[in-house]
Amino acid sequence: MTPADLLVLLLRSAAFIWSVVLLRRSRDRRIGLLGVLLLLLVVDRLVIPAAGPDRVAWWPAMLVSVAALVLVVFLGRWFDDHRRATEALRIEKAYFEHLFANAPESMLLADAQGHIERVNAEFTRLFGYSADEVRGQSLDEILAPHALAEARVLTSDSAHGRTVRFETQRRRRDGSLLHVSIIGSPIVLEGRQLGVYALYRDNTPRVRAEEALRTSDRYFRSLMANTLDLIVVLDTDGRVRYTSGSIETVLGYDTEELLGRDAFGLLHPDEVDEVRGRFVRLLDRPGPAPRIEFRCRHHDGAWRIFEASANNLLADPAIDGVVITMRDIAARKRAEEALRESEERYALAQQGANDGLWDWDLRAGQVYFSPRWKAMVGAAEHEVGTAPEEWFGRVHPDELEQLKIDIDLHVAGHTPHLQTEHRMRHRDGLYRWVMTRGLAVRDAAGKAYRLAGSQTDITVRKSIEEQLLHDAFHDPLTGLPNRALFMDRMGHAIRRGRRSDGRSAVLFLDLDRFKVVNDSLGHVHGDQLLVAIARRLEDCIRPGDTVGRLGGDEFVVLLDEVPGAAGAEEVAGRIQAALSDPFELAGQEVFVTASIGIAISVTGHERAEDLLRDADTAMYDAKAQGKATHRVFHAGMHSHAMSQLQLETDLRRALDREELVLFYQPIVSLARGRVTGFEALARWRHPERGFLGPEEFIPLAEETGLIDRIGQWVMGEACRTLRGWLDRHPASGPLSVSVNISARQFQRPELVAEVAAVLAEVALPSGALRLEITEGTIMGQAESSVAVLRGLKQAGVQVQVDDFGTGYSSLSYLQRFQLDALKIDRSFVGELGNPGENPEIVRTIIALAKNLGMAVIAEGVETPRQRTMLQQFGCDYVQGWLFSHPLDREAAEALLDAEPAVVPPRSG
Ligand code: C2E
Ligand code: CA
Ligand code: CA
Repeated sequence: MTPADLLVLLLRSAAFIWSVVLLRRSRDRRIGLLGVLLLLLVVDRLVIPAAGPDRVAWWPAMLVSVAALVLVVFLGRWFDDHRRATEALRIEKAYFEHLFANAPESMLLADAQGHIERVNAEFTRLFGYSADEVRGQSLDEILAPHALAEARVLTSDSAHGRTVRFETQRRRRDGSLLHVSIIGSPIVLEGRQLGVYALYRDNTPRVRAEEALRTSDRYFRSLMANTLDLIVVLDTDGRVRYTSGSIETVLGYDTEELLGRDAFGLLHPDEVDEVRGRFVRLLDRPGPAPRIEFRCRHHDGAWRIFEASANNLLADPAIDGVVITMRDIAARKRAEEALRESEERYALAQQGANDGLWDWDLRAGQVYFSPRWKAMVGAAEHEVGTAPEEWFGRVHPDELEQLKIDIDLHVAGHTPHLQTEHRMRHRDGLYRWVMTRGLAVRDAAGKAYRLAGSQTDITVRKSIEEQLLHDAFHDPLTGLPNRALFMDRMGHAIRRGRRSDGRSAVLFLDLDRFKVVNDSLGHVHGDQLLVAIARRLEDCIRPGDTVGRLGGDEFVVLLDEVPGAAGAEEVAGRIQAALSDPFELAGQEVFVTASIGIAISVTGHERAEDLLRDADTAMYDAKAQGKATHRVFHAGMHSHAMSQLQLETDLRRALDREELVLFYQPIVSLARGRVTGFEALARWRHPERGFLGPEEFIPLAEETGLIDRIGQWVMGEACRTLRGWLDRHPASGPLSVSVNISARQFQRPELVAEVAAVLAEVALPSGALRLEITEGTIMGQAESSVAVLRGLKQAGVQVQVDDFGTGYSSLSYLQRFQLDALKIDRSFVGELGNPGENPEIVRTIIALAKNLGMAVIAEGVETPRQRTMLQQFGCDYVQGWLFSHPLDREAAEALLDAEPAVVPPRSG
């Protein structure tokens, strides 16, 4: 091997190693490969030939090799650098692209004229444009039509190299506005402005939040200032920490004025303790407390009523207090009251659609009167105003004062409701009774501010009440005061007399023949007579005097002020004169007289009952004196009356003590001239007063009911006596006994049975017992008499009409009753033989009896002339002193023993 070969080998090895190094170092493999090829070429073509076998001088080859080497190195370096720079740029660009695309802010690049070159994704998201849509568009046009300055600001300001920041609004593609802050910055390259970039940050949420905050703050303040509620925050001591602005309108205080002040100082003293107590209790218990009502002092000093709720928010650091929410509830209270009022009004309305309603606003002094109310007083709707006088002006003067008192009492709260009765003047001038009912409506303090109620027409009820009251104190028949009222008036008169030293008098009046009228004409006519008498009595007295009826035929007259007994007697005389005119009854003239007893209150200390009793006693005295007269009471009469009382007591024992006896007065047959019977007449053998005639005790027995026992005894005694006589004189012909039956006895249902029992007991022949019943008694109850008389007939008893002519017999009844005999009253018989006699009555009675098929007995025959006349007239039987006085049993027996001889008439 030659050195040249060696050299070539060396060179080639070096080039190869170098190439490998180059290749390995170059990033760009193509450039590296190119360099290796170039190196190998240079070595192979230039270096090797030069040093090769041709012997070329090795140094140019060497030189060329070195130069190629240097070139290769240099090129390699240059390629390397360039490759590196390009790479860096690419990376940078990639960074930028990445950043631009993915930046969380919206970004925009524009050229120096403000035309958009590119925008990032965030931008398109924010503004709604796509990148293509905005490319090339002017900044002014696309984003901010109303902010044309933007492009200029951005371009010009940033042209001066400044970065600008500002906040503004930008429009999105859909037209909506965004609050954005913009940062604009120039892109400058070597002093030359390439463009601008701008960064848009969306502030809308923040701005909205701020706005919301501002609004809500404003809202809150306004709310707090204008709410009707009052919101107060108190610390644990009850001091005001906060009050809403509404305090000014609600309570009239400035907000600051109250801060730090004790809130309880504003409360009403009546309620402060209660409210404070609740507040203190609330402090231990977080959260809300129940509502409460209390009064608070307004700045003007007046009290306002509040409803409050409290909420313990001490645990909330933002509040750190108790929040009190208060509401003025005066309006609500009024509404509640109004509701209550309207409910009350409704309830009242319900009470009676027929009632008039009234509603008095006490504060305004005005009264609402319902149409019905107005109608009740006969007024048209427009004729009644609203003044209380519309009401009071119509109230009867007698009740006005009481009505006002009742109203005042209720308004003042002394009565639970108003209820009063009074009369109201109707338009027709008449008064109607109404009942006024009402109820006051009161405020929280209990003060009445309204009075409402109804008015009911109670005229009918009132008149019924008045009627009842009247009935209770008046005799239903005559309408005169009854005993109760008369006694009351007497009491008043006596007391008045005591004061004025005046005298009052009582007249006790008893009709003398009323029983006869009543019994014979019947109760209806008897009643008519009583009414007529009452009217005449009323005509006899002065206005201040009183006529009353005690019952039956007893009337009383109270003379309020009389000068003395003479004055009272004068009135009694007037009464008797007034009664003397006949009364027209049942087509007949009826004559009535009265016995009048007078008692005078002298000292003014008499009791009404005593005075009346005295007058009664005096009346009995007048009757005893012969009727149709009057007597003034004196003390002696009292003892007489007392003895009457004693008599009654004695009479009760008389039967048991067998003090009663029967006398027998013979009845003589004119035709046969002999005794055919006896009338049994009762006598009382009084242990102290001796023999008493029947007029002394029979009326008393009638009155007291003792007549029932006496009558039975008389009948039994008379029958037994007759039985004895019949047994004694069996052959002396028919003999009868007549027994008097009083009205009371006749009315007893047991009468027929008792009579039959007696007859059966003593076994008298039929017709031997005759009952004498007065004309008045039989005719008085004509219808029931028919049955009794038939019963007596069936028992085999004859019935005779006693005292015929004194009553008012109906002929048709006389016939129907099938009576056996008429007994002409001795007053008619006594007429016979008198100067100026009128025998026609007796003659007529006898003729009547004959026509009716009845026997006639004349009683009270005292003179032979009477007997003669009676005989002429056809009278069958006579009885009287001319033949015999009533005789005791023994005497009567002796008389019978002397029979059959006719009893000789007494001479004289
Ligand atoms: P009267 O039934 O009319 O009895 C006849 C009365 O006339 C008797 O009176 C008798 O004594 C009296 N008298 C008889 N003849 C004459 C006379 O010629 N002239 C006068 N002036 N009077 C004469 P007396 O006994 O006093 O009886 C009176 C009345 O008492 C009787 O009237 C009778 O109604 C009643 N009475 C008598 N006894 C009884 C009796 O037992 N029961 C009942 N219920 N009443 C009796
Ligand atoms: Ca008789
Ligand atoms: Ca008689």
